[in-house]
Amino acid sequence: MSRFCYIKFASAVLLLLAAFSTCPAKEEERSRPTGQLKRFTFVEAHMGTHFKIILYAKDRATAEQAAKAAFARIAQLDGIMSHYRLTSELMQLCLKSDDKPVKVSSDLFAVLWQAQKMAEQSNGAFDVTIGPVVRLWRRCRLKNKLPTPQELAQARSLVGFRNLVLDPKHQTVQLKQPGMRLDLGGIGKGFAADKAIETLARLGVDRALVSAGGDIVVSKPPPDSDGWRIGIAPLEDPDARPERFIFLADAAIATSGDAERYVEIDGIRYSHIVDPRTGLGLVGRISATVIAPDGTTADALATTLNILGEKGLPLIEKTPGASGLIHRKVDNKDVLIKSKRFPDH
Ligand code: ADP
Ligand code: MG
Repeated sequence: MSRFCYIKFASAVLLLLAAFSTCPAKEEERSRPTGQLKRFTFVEAHMGTHFKIILYAKDRATAEQAAKAAFARIAQLDGIMSHYRLTSELMQLCLKSDDKPVKVSSDLFAVLWQAQKMAEQSNGAFDVTIGPVVRLWRRCRLKNKLPTPQELAQARSLVGFRNLVLDPKHQTVQLKQPGMRLDLGGIGKGFAADKAIETLARLGVDRALVSAGGDIVVSKPPPDSDGWRIGIAPLEDPDARPERFIFLADAAIATSGDAERYVEIDGIRYSHIVDPRTGLGLVGRISATVIAPDGTTADALATTLNILGEKGLPLIEKTPGASGLIHRKVDNKDVLIKSKRFPDH
């Protein structure tokens, strides 16, 4: 369960998260000891972003061993879930798929299972079969050009979560249409952060924070506090120093939006998040922050809330332990809409 000391909203909230240095594999030890435990920080590049681990351990050797194992777990998951690497288990599944059930690893099955749950609950707004359309958008971003109606129709014809069939008994995945491409970009970082926290806990490190860009998962709080202090940066400038903070323990928080990855074509700004109903990147400045019991749920829900906007709030309300905040820019004004449980103070 999450615990909060307080939360305050800036006038232009959002686009979280913990301010961090970008030096890969840097480790620092705070001079201030907290009881028997000391604080250590590690950063490594994975999944196209920087993963940061902050943990408390009794000594440097324990800290280093735990961080190394957690990063190794993240790297392993990248090798499974990446939609960039042709050698990943995910891509091999897509490339070799011929409408037959394929046995997959328990990690891949678990993340796909969660993804399909979100697809059902969001009525297909969140859909990891969106791959062909996302790829088309990526190309458009490079060329600064909208796709042609034919290109869009072709890509969209390969999208549909009901054509992704999972069998939990045999741990198999079936792609029912040739040419389908799965994309775990909206859920994978949260899943990897969850697994990293689990790895740390197995090694006896249960006071830790794992962040992956806009996704953060925390276990027990630092020894001298009630929660992990997480900064919320302004929507316009995600690199700006956060002015507001929330405190989290045993929970996850994810922010998703178009602040960093978007394309502007003919004066219209399109997000890297695609609305499966149109096949187009989302239009209009929006960002969504979701707090949930785990990173996988928070990550997927934050992406979903971008797509559904206010209509996604009932889904947040009915998800145990979840709360959310939507931040829109309307006529240059900040509009903040939150779910009932999103903490005020
Ligand atoms: P970020 O990757 O910036 O943290 P998100 O978690 O919102 O942001 O994930 C966005 C990514 O999710 C996109 O880059 C793409 O890979 C994937 N994606 C885009 N649209 C959808 C969608 N409708 N459903 C599921 N995944 C999506
Ligand atoms: Mg997401």
